[in-house]
Amino acid sequence: MKVSETFELSAPAMIAAPTQWFNILHHLPEPLPEVRDPEDGKASRIETMQRIRLKMTEDHDNAAGPWVPIPKPVLTQYQAIGRPTPLYRARGLEKYLGTPARLYFKREDRLPTGSFKLNSAIAQAYYASQEGVTGLITETGAGQWGHALAYACSIYGLKSVVFWVKVSQEQKGYRSALAQMLGATIHPSPSTLTLSGQTVLANDPASPGSLGTAIGDAIEYAMAHPDYRYVSGSNLPHVLLHQTVIGLETKAQLAALDETPTRLIACAGGGSNLGGLMGPFLPEKYARGDDLRLIAAESDAAPRLTCGEYRYDHSDPAGLTPLTLSYTLGMDYMPPASHVGGLRQHSGSAVIGVLRRRQLLEAYAYSQVEALQAGRLMVETERILPAPESCHAVQAVIDAALEAKRSRRSEVIVSCLSGDGAFDLNGYKAILGV
Ligand SMILES: *Cc1c(COP(=O)(O)O)cnc(C)c1O
Repeated sequence: MKVSETFELSAPAMIAAPTQWFNILHHLPEPLPEVRDPEDGKASRIETMQRIRLKMTEDHDNAAGPWVPIPKPVLTQYQAIGRPTPLYRARGLEKYLGTPARLYFKREDRLPTGSFKLNSAIAQAYYASQEGVTGLITETGAGQWGHALAYACSIYGLKSVVFWVKVSQEQKGYRSALAQMLGATIHPSPSTLTLSGQTVLANDPASPGSLGTAIGDAIEYAMAHPDYRYVSGSNLPHVLLHQTVIGLETKAQLAALDETPTRLIACAGGGSNLGGLMGPFLPEKYARGDDLRLIAAESDAAPRLTCGEYRYDHSDPAGLTPLTLSYTLGMDYMPPASHVGGLRQHSGSAVIGVLRRRQLLEAYAYSQVEALQAGRLMVETERILPAPESCHAVQAVIDAALEAKRSRRSEVIVSCLSGDGAFDLNGYKAILGV
């Protein structure tokens, strides 16, 4: 009997934790398109961002070699939060679907804040502590990022200030309470603390807020507080870099199990869990072509990769960030209200844009009903409750597993379970009526 047959579910115990991040930029088929400033006569967005961001951002967004060492203290924290996370084989789901495919889920939902966001939050808070800043400022939509940042800042004795889209902060009251217990100062956005928030409130005192108002609040607040820095939880190359621990561990775990993946699947919002899972597999993708398919699952409420245009656009709806080349629905696009806050951006990461443009990445869009039904099936067959965002990836896994059944191919389908759904049960209740 092979070791892998005996120890399948404890694969993490058999791999060593990665000690370096994988530099996706170095492995892209072309250089990452540069960011630009719009020619609108207003202050340079590039310079503003440089001023309010950590120095690490600049270093990691321009890293040159194939690898970036993970600082020792970050490795220690990764271990403390439970990395390497398990690579879990979903035999219950396989059996239910009657598929010959083997289905593996990388369990990022098992991290203490219930999502993969902690991988970058810990790295960013560590560098902030080294750069001697007082605290970090950010915005959050669905709340996983704000929660992760609060957790990470509390490790390093940093303050955290989170501008939380008002309607979502009300919906996610429990998550917000926990972030507060972790020491975060939370401001519902639009806030009364900034001019941009005051302007929105003057026009509409009952404004529910949006990612745009929250970014506006956070950037303006950061400009007024020079001992703080402004950080982001997705989209940018440095965030994707930190998330490559997901793919590196998965690669080692699959090797330990003697498995060769045929499909990698992740949900796509800003693209950081997708980039983190798939980045380290790029050299293998180039070598194996269609034998290794990379698949993005997006929300049909913001179908950028399936319906968007490839062009320069701001990544925030208020136009405060530089212009980035990627797939976009246009910064005026207002996604319909939905319970999948993490996938509702109008544009995405430039890195993901290059992969899609080069036809290395397939994309499919799912409705929130389809997605949450897939989540319910995970509960019924695996007793695992995925976050609504992760449910999109689960639905893509189900599609791939059924395709393998029809064509009788023995696929190895590996996906990222980006988060846990316990804080999102209101969404499950509202949509599925459970
Ligand atoms: C933030 C989030 C996402 C989407 O972000 P990406 O950067 O696209 O990965 C997906 N799932 C969960 C659980 C999240 O918290």
